[in-house]
Amino acid sequence: MFNLFKQKIKVRIAPSPTGYLHIGTARTALFNWLFAKHNGGKFIIRIEDTDLERSEKRFEKDILDGLKWLGIESDEKIVRQTERLDIYEKYLKKLLESGNAYYCACTKEELETERQKAIDSGKPPIYSGKCRDKNIAPEKGQVIRFKVPNEIIIFKDLIRGDVRFDMSLMGDIAIAKNLKTPLYNFAVVVDDHEMGISHVIRGEDHLANTPKQIAIQQALGLKSPKYAHLPLILDPDRSKMSKRFSATSVEEYRKLGYLPEALINFIALLGWHSKEEKEIMDIKELIKEFELERVQKAGAVFNTEKLDWINSQYIKNSNFERIKSALSDIFGNKIVFDEITKKIINVAKDRMSKLSEFEEIRKEFLDLLDYPASLLVWKKSSADTAKNNLKVIKDNVENVHEKDFTKENLEKILMFLADKLGRGETLWPLRVSLSGKEKSPGPFELMDVLGKEESLKRINDAIKKLEK
Ligand code: GLU
Repeated sequence: MFNLFKQKIKVRIAPSPTGYLHIGTARTALFNWLFAKHNGGKFIIRIEDTDLERSEKRFEKDILDGLKWLGIESDEKIVRQTERLDIYEKYLKKLLESGNAYYCACTKEELETERQKAIDSGKPPIYSGKCRDKNIAPEKGQVIRFKVPNEIIIFKDLIRGDVRFDMSLMGDIAIAKNLKTPLYNFAVVVDDHEMGISHVIRGEDHLANTPKQIAIQQALGLKSPKYAHLPLILDPDRSKMSKRFSATSVEEYRKLGYLPEALINFIALLGWHSKEEKEIMDIKELIKEFELERVQKAGAVFNTEKLDWINSQYIKNSNFERIKSALSDIFGNKIVFDEITKKIINVAKDRMSKLSEFEEIRKEFLDLLDYPASLLVWKKSSADTAKNNLKVIKDNVENVHEKDFTKENLEKILMFLADKLGRGETLWPLRVSLSGKEKSPGPFELMDVLGKEESLKRINDAIKKLEK
């Protein structure tokens, strides 16, 4: 039965535009998005740009473009914190008026000396609360601090279970530089409330911020959203993911030729699995299966080999149009999609783990190296044998109709000859004549791609080389 009292699900991704879209942010966005879609809720993008020194428009653009490329878009207008300064001011005043916040006059230098002293005497380096009851005037205030209550805060994390924090170890935290410049922990509380966020799903690195946010919510008399902290993404050596092992920004993966649908599939498995532990799942299946209950607590290792394998599966199963648009995305107009390219795409689909390999594969198929005649000769065979066998092949190939010039047909016809004349003695010179290389794709695939005219030209040239 439809439950009128059931809370509406609304989640958000709240990136700070201080860097490029990181894989970790993409994973958090995806989990939020899947959770919303699975539960018929809403997903919102909120740009946390109150740190004016570090926030940049180009990063915001990169983040939004990257999410869009992955297919993750906001269900409502994108929210920017810098457009909501009046709202934060209202709540800051509330906290100041109720005595839950105060202006602090300590300078950076004073705070630093205090911090050092605490460390030297083996105490936690937290703010002493010196300005707490001094009634400092706003003009003298360096920052606005929140009076962190001296209590234990316990909250139920949907992934980690009960999490407990002793707030007396925290010290009074700065929540704004002034009425118009809120800081992270405070602005988040206001936004999550004002936007009606039901669940905050974010990285484990924010776990220690949650009790601070809950304390601020309590002081403002606000209901807390539900919290779920996702496990860290780790490098293979189990350290936090860094550039040392693999690319960390989504844009880099895009440029390397990972299909967004493959990256989504891979990222979804970073700390989550379906009931049947399936490896290949398209977006529809992910939405259907996604539940927070199956998010793990332990860190999730980023395994590039697995990503490559997943990507290769998606490439293999994509149609020509899909590959064409993805290749254009990477190579721009460097690729002209003529008949030959179409054929190469067809064969390359089974060979690529990422689309950036396409150029290399194209070269493998099309480029004819300037090779010595001796390369045409198979092991202990002779130049004469190579020449004669190429001639027989040529006569047979000439008789194949253009429309029958396919890998399968050519294989049928020429393998019959190769079995009579010796496989090495026929297939080796044929393949070298077509590629000019010691190693290359097989002769039938090459002929299929090159077409009848070009294949015959290359075979003829090889025969001439051997006649010299
Ligand atoms: N702006 C924070 C970040 O980029 C958001 C944290 C949160 O989701 O509350 O990490």
